[in-house]
Amino acid sequence: MPVDAFVGSMVGLAVGDALGFATEFRRRQAILDTFGPDGVTDFVGQLDPRWPARPAIIGRGHPPGTYSDDTQMSIAVAEALLDGPTDDVDTVMRRMARRFVDWSRSGDNDRAPGNACLTGCRNLARGVPWREAGVADSKGCGSAMRVAAIGLVCWRDRSRLLELARASSLPTHRHDAGIEGAAAAALLVALALEKSSPAEMYDAVLAECGPRSADFDRCWRRLPQMLDRAPASVLSEQGLGESWVAEEAVASALYCFWRAPTDFRATVLTAVNTDGDSDSIGCIAGSISGAYNGVAAIPEHWRQNVENSSLLHRLGERLHAAAVG
Ligand SMILES: [Mg+2]
Repeated sequence: MPVDAFVGSMVGLAVGDALGFATEFRRRQAILDTFGPDGVTDFVGQLDPRWPARPAIIGRGHPPGTYSDDTQMSIAVAEALLDGPTDDVDTVMRRMARRFVDWSRSGDNDRAPGNACLTGCRNLARGVPWREAGVADSKGCGSAMRVAAIGLVCWRDRSRLLELARASSLPTHRHDAGIEGAAAAALLVALALEKSSPAEMYDAVLAECGPRSADFDRCWRRLPQMLDRAPASVLSEQGLGESWVAEEAVASALYCFWRAPTDFRATVLTAVNTDGDSDSIGCIAGSISGAYNGVAAIPEHWRQNVENSSLLHRLGERLHAAAVG
């Protein structure tokens, strides 16, 4: 398995997240009114003068190319996997819990983190075991957006991939659709490494995750009828939903990839010019397309100028070494 697919997935998720960080919490029509009929086509800063004045500046008003909590938590998951052996789930999860708490306390945690993620980290910090720390009824997409590294490291061992991805949801999200969203997102990355077609990916994920969550199953069964419809209608309340919840975010990311499997740029731009949770759709779609197409398929300007580009490249290389070693 070539290293550039691993690097492509880690850099790709950060690029998709960084593109969407500027458009999260904005309506698609407002994005198009500001940037033209194609919407956002490049990194845009929180303080870009083209945005209409608004109160909801996130954090310090981050510059173009800054990624959000999605990538920060994806890095935490990757580091936890790389901190030691990955054969024992409880050991990996204890390391991951420490990484999550460190992230939650970091000064860089100012990028619109999700409530369940913060609640889970507070519970972990006061000693609640990782299996019980998550919000019981939360299926927000916070645990689906961060699992690409699990798909990369475990791509050859499907049962370990699923066990670890499901476990990785529990510190923050314990609803069955949140857990299955994490399993699905990791599985899609592994299937992308293997060059599975989007239709094969869809069938595999629905067969694996559908029986374990009624919400997940209901959402995913609507995806095939969406494939001929335009993104404006699919990635909205009238289609798959606004992706604040896990099953919608992962289904939306697969839809974006399905429309243009060999075109990284098209996939992530479809993902981020949306009404809802644009950065998380962009993050998940970027992780899939980056794994499928390799890092060279990511426009050079994006892969070089995304925040912490060299760290992300190095993480991809280290995950590759861990996966093949
Ligand atoms: Mg985010």
